[in-house]
Amino acid sequence: MGAEIIKPLDVALEQLKITAERIDLDSGIYEMLKRPKRSLRVSIPVKLENGEVKVFMGCRVQHNDARGPFKGGLRYHPDVTLDEVSALAMWMTWKCAVVDIPYGGAKGGVSCNPKALSKDELERLTRRYVNSILDIIGPFRDVPAPDVYTDAQVMAWIMDTYSQLKGYSVPECVTGKPIVLGGSEGRIEATSRGVVFCVKETAQRLGVKLKGATVVVQGFGNVGWNAAKIAHDSGCKIVAVSDSKGGVYCEKGLNPYKIRDHKAKTGSVVGYERCAGVTNEELLELECDVLIPAALENQITKTNAAEIEARIVAEAANGPTTAKADEILREKDVVVIPDILANAGGVTVSYLEWVQNLEREHWSLEEVNRKLANKLLTAFNDIYERAKKEEADMRTVALEQGIGRVGEAMKTLGIWP
Ligand code: NAD
Repeated sequence: MGAEIIKPLDVALEQLKITAERIDLDSGIYEMLKRPKRSLRVSIPVKLENGEVKVFMGCRVQHNDARGPFKGGLRYHPDVTLDEVSALAMWMTWKCAVVDIPYGGAKGGVSCNPKALSKDELERLTRRYVNSILDIIGPFRDVPAPDVYTDAQVMAWIMDTYSQLKGYSVPECVTGKPIVLGGSEGRIEATSRGVVFCVKETAQRLGVKLKGATVVVQGFGNVGWNAAKIAHDSGCKIVAVSDSKGGVYCEKGLNPYKIRDHKAKTGSVVGYERCAGVTNEELLELECDVLIPAALENQITKTNAAEIEARIVAEAANGPTTAKADEILREKDVVVIPDILANAGGVTVSYLEWVQNLEREHWSLEEVNRKLANKLLTAFNDIYERAKKEEADMRTVALEQGIGRVGEAMKTLGIWP
């Protein structure tokens, strides 16, 4: 089998096409949903430490805002393209509808290698990016959040730049902020908490015991590390983890806290003591109860799907499975918890952060986690039960749910003028 080279936007458009047919979506609405409402591509000049000026490509794609303001993360990565960001923006639209929060979908990206930039250079890049997209963002327009290689510090620079340019403090213009600036309790862990929550619900229904269940995690950044930690604390056995440099495997189980310390010292999970080294490709094919891809798109493809030995795949990353791979996993009876449900905990707590900011409130961790669990449980139950009844997979039902709700909102709004 040849390697499957697939662009995330092709995957997203194919999902939309199939779902539109299944739910008999109005053809005009389908045509509108195929394209983002607005895409802004910007050039970001940054003065580097050595005095040179380098110009980076950045963009913000706003897919749909029928159900509320645009919402979506900001990614810094060398492979960022307008096409990739457009796919991620579309998935955000469906995701917000699946968990029924009043947002549309957007995504931003800057094509850069953040590991090669100093902290000052990253700050200048972030502030200039915000200045370039200022007219299309804002608390009631479009609210950014963290994604790959952006964090709470980057969100703080976004808040400050936006506020400085407006002339007053606007904490609700961005989520995923540090707590000292109005960030929410539990936001850092929210995506992973949601992932493990969905895993627990699925395992329970499949009769898989969570205590001692073997878990493999690809990606050891914010989402991967927190998912490994929460799964470990819930009694699961983490048998392998990886990052961009490679992975480590230990049949007896790994302690994610120790791996985090090792990564903090050495820059990677690779080389962690008393473990076998594995490549990212090998890691995906390890025998386990739960596989959590928590890195990038297109990791499970038609090339390796037949070799996946997991019982449950919980998509913490966005778009880790291609459509062909999905079919293969279905035939193998692997239960896939789709990204637009599995990782929706992040945007749910982002929404809770925004509400707290607008109300000038700060809720306790217990309150945030209770609201998160309520939202996720409702969405999970709806999707799981419908999938069971219709003998469909959870992705098909989640897409029907998300796209159906957005379509309904668009139909009700009508087209102006
Ligand atoms: P992050 O930057 O904190 O971590 C990314 C991790 O992936 C790092 O450990 C990096 O080393 C690893 N990685 C990069 N390339 C890799 C490769 N080719 N193979 C294996 N590992 C690789 O990013 P994050 O916020 O943890 O995001 C991870 C995924 O979760 C992304 O798909 C993102 O879109 C998705 N997601 C994030 C959030 C959020 O709240 N941060 C919410 C929903 C979905």
